[in-house]
Amino acid sequence: MTTGKQETGTAVRIRPIPAFNDNYIWLIEDGTHAVVVDPGQAQPVLDVLEQTQLSLVAILLTHHHHDHVGGVMQILQKHPALVYGPALEVLPACDVLLGQGDCVTINELSLRLDVQDVPGHTAGHIAYAGLVNTANGSQPVLFCGDTLFVGGCGRLFEGTPAQMLSSLDQLAALPADTAVYCAHEYTLANLRFARAADPNNHDLAAFEKVCQAKRAANIPTVPSTIGTERLCNPFLRSREPDVANSVQRWANKTLQTPVEIFGALREWKNGFK
Ligand SMILES: [Zn+2]
Repeated sequence: MTTGKQETGTAVRIRPIPAFNDNYIWLIEDGTHAVVVDPGQAQPVLDVLEQTQLSLVAILLTHHHHDHVGGVMQILQKHPALVYGPALEVLPACDVLLGQGDCVTINELSLRLDVQDVPGHTAGHIAYAGLVNTANGSQPVLFCGDTLFVGGCGRLFEGTPAQMLSSLDQLAALPADTAVYCAHEYTLANLRFARAADPNNHDLAAFEKVCQAKRAANIPTVPSTIGTERLCNPFLRSREPDVANSVQRWANKTLQTPVEIFGALREWKNGFK
């Protein structure tokens, strides 16, 4: 009897390699092969590869910031892996230049990830979305760097509010059970701001409690899911009347368009203590 579930390759696990104060370098591995996402620091990755004896086959980069690419050259000296990254950014190394509509296939891990352009945090930022084969079956995943965070979004260093809103809309359209692997543990600060922007959101209040308990136990709050982000993340909810009203109260003026509201929400967060 067939179950309808396709068995392809061995199961992979995804876990964080902590770096700097609050970065997560994501490690995707099947016990033999490994991929890392955004290795801002080399040593923590080199240590894990040494301990586990995994063979590094690829490095995936989302954007050019040092805390995402700073470890690449030193890792390559020991592990000559293929580097994938955004075509529109200057990177320390990149073998495969990617943009909207491209697909990354890593046969060793049966990985197939679609590339999306998500400008806003940086001008050429990309995200990787696809399915991984886990011990519990097929799981949709997203590696989104500094575009979407748990309960928040990246600062607009190089892009406009219109670009970031459109990038986040694209990510929000992914399946609800997509696991969101962002690059920083910013969740509790993000959720404190989220509560100010979206004070009557009961899902958000409950989610904040869950995340506080995780942090108290030193457990990462990442990944969350796209479904949770749609319910709790004010930057995916700036068109909701409650959030829009809070933003307009903060700005002390009427804002006409979703882009204006989103832009003001991001400004409010920039100065939020
Ligand atoms: Zn960044």
